Amino acid sequence: MRPLLAALFLATVVAPPLLAQPAPRAEFTRMIAHWDAYDDDDYLAFVAEARPEVCQLGFYGGHFYSLVHTPEYKGYPAHFPVRGVAECGKWFEERNAAVHKLGAKVVGHFNVTFLVGEPEGKDEPMGFFKFYRDLWDEKELGPKPVADPLMLLARNADGSPMASKQYSIGGMREYTACLNNPHWRTVLKAWAKRAAERGVDGLIANYFYRHNCLCEHCRKGFRAYLIDRHTPAAMQANFGINNISTHKFPEIVGWHDPRESTPLRREMLRWSQISQKEAFDEVFVKYAKALKPGFLVAQWNHLGDFSQINGDERCMLPKKLWGEDEDYLWYSTGGAANFTDLAAGVLGEATLQARYIRGAFDDKPFTLGKYENTRIRVAIAELAANGGAPMGFYARHKDPEARAELVRYYRFLAANESAFKANRPHAEYVLLYPRSKVQAGDVASVEAFKKAGRELVLLVKRAEVFLADDVGRACHQMGDL
Ligand SMILES: [Zn+2]
Repeated sequence: MRPLLAALFLATVVAPPLLAQPAPRAEFTRMIAHWDAYDDDDYLAFVAEARPEVCQLGFYGGHFYSLVHTPEYKGYPAHFPVRGVAECGKWFEERNAAVHKLGAKVVGHFNVTFLVGEPEGKDEPMGFFKFYRDLWDEKELGPKPVADPLMLLARNADGSPMASKQYSIGGMREYTACLNNPHWRTVLKAWAKRAAERGVDGLIANYFYRHNCLCEHCRKGFRAYLIDRHTPAAMQANFGINNISTHKFPEIVGWHDPRESTPLRREMLRWSQISQKEAFDEVFVKYAKALKPGFLVAQWNHLGDFSQINGDERCMLPKKLWGEDEDYLWYSTGGAANFTDLAAGVLGEATLQARYIRGAFDDKPFTLGKYENTRIRVAIAELAANGGAPMGFYARHKDPEARAELVRYYRFLAANESAFKANRPHAEYVLLYPRSKVQAGDVASVEAFKKAGRELVLLVKRAEVFLADDVGRACHQMGDL
């Protein structure tokens, strides 16, 4: 017996641990998501016909308050149908009500860090900074947490605000807010409350990132984290930190190249992910969920072809925090699963990612952002067969052929809901994901996982192969095998 299979066999006979009573969970198998082409009657007619359970629709965070009042409101990324905070806010209220009438829930997009604007434009602040100075309505949003919006931003090592000009929308730069800044969390709560008032049934956090921010909050947070986890002697031996209270960090990185990883950088990344999860829990789980019964909260995250340390917002999280209290998962496969290279055996499929997420997330709803706008039937079938909720991106309803297939497949899923909804795998094999090795910096072990997983997916045609996370939910699942 090969070692892998021996491990799998042993795994199947271990008795399941006693489980705490599971919290009521959201269950759905059909969703659509749009960043454009959501503003006409076609969209509503499509919802009426396809009958998704969840529509990811509308913008309520950084994109909205950066761009909706500017001449660029119509363009990428949000394609707002009308200009103005109040005008477009009202438009979303009406659209949310119209979608509700069709029986679907609305989850709004909520960009949590990415701000377009200029603190000092030619004549006055632009984008987000204009909103913050002139358009923040205290009756709607409460008092501003700080007078100067620069106090909300992530900082480079030299103290300058973190900014880029990658998109250059309206000639404005993109600034990054810091999720570890308590004042920024106050802004996010005010926006989340306004979103709930406008009728959304949930929010999905976009741009849920922490980069190499050296603001006072990050420096303080990381220092406290190290003190809590390591003795002074261990910090000296392992990280070369002689005196933590006076140590000046030249960097506190997030994602980084695994080939340039060090034990200290992995501590930085681990703390990054834990602190971002704390921010998410404070704003979304504790605050936003309390605004409305059944409010859905999710993160829009990135897995690609199992990028680890240089990708995946959860790769260093302790198991307790992995997806905890989140209603569904969105994982983008980016450029890894939206093309075919037959000669190289690349079929553009993401079964392995889907099964990994399903196992790690204990069968709760998830979708893959596949950026697949051609092989729509395959994308829907792949996700449905693997316990997911089609489809992440794109539900291309403007194309008559695509629309007809979306409707046909979604109707099939609805007609067979008893089979698809809240189902459990009946797997004969468990393949463990090497998360503890990743967390020790060994990303090569993921390649072995991918190779074994893809062999199993391809070769064990009649058996369901169930993939689980070694420190995640594998034990939960064993009782179901
Ligand atoms: Zn920071």
